[in-house]
Amino acid sequence: AEEREELTWELFGTASRDLAQAVADDGFEPDLILSIARGGLFVAGGLGYALDVKNLHVMNVEFYTGVDQRLDLPVMLPPVPNVVDLTKKKVLVADDVADTGATLKLVRDFCADHVAEVRCAVVYEKPRSEVKCEYVWKHTDRWINFPWSVQAPVVRREGQVLDA
Ligand code: 5GP
Repeated sequence: AEEREELTWELFGTASRDLAQAVADDGFEPDLILSIARGGLFVAGGLGYALDVKNLHVMNVEFYTGVDQRLDLPVMLPPVPNVVDLTKKKVLVADDVADTGATLKLVRDFCADHVAEVRCAVVYEKPRSEVKCEYVWKHTDRWINFPWSVQAPVVRREGQVLDA
């Protein structure tokens, strides 16, 4: 069987710190960090502390609808960031992985009309990604186990409806 890429909590600490260092070394000073829920929340938190950025925003993009159907394209779910908050800002988008890159493509396009600049930071990027991120901790073509999703939920909740 093909081996998996395993990110431990400990390694995640190193990865988020390294990513932040790469952003700083590059001279990019984001006004705000836009995290893609849910995986990107962890990355955004780490980057926020390491880059001393307190402005954290959340956007939710999924390939699945509330009724558990896979779509051809990712969709934006609430919370949708307020465009006013993004206007003319230097935005650092934070996510766990760029796989097909469709998620980050959607986010980039959403931001593009409003922001001064948008750059992406991810822990992993896969070779097929249609978005090439400015900051990548590691390139891989394997399936990744993340520490926050490797275990089954302690309770299963079906048919959830997201807040509008
Ligand atoms: P995309 O294909 O849009 O770049 O990735 C969409 C989402 O699929 C990612 O944010 C992530 O939640 C999930 N995903 C993609 N590849 C992997 C993977 O290798 N491991 C895990 N655990 N999730 C993944």
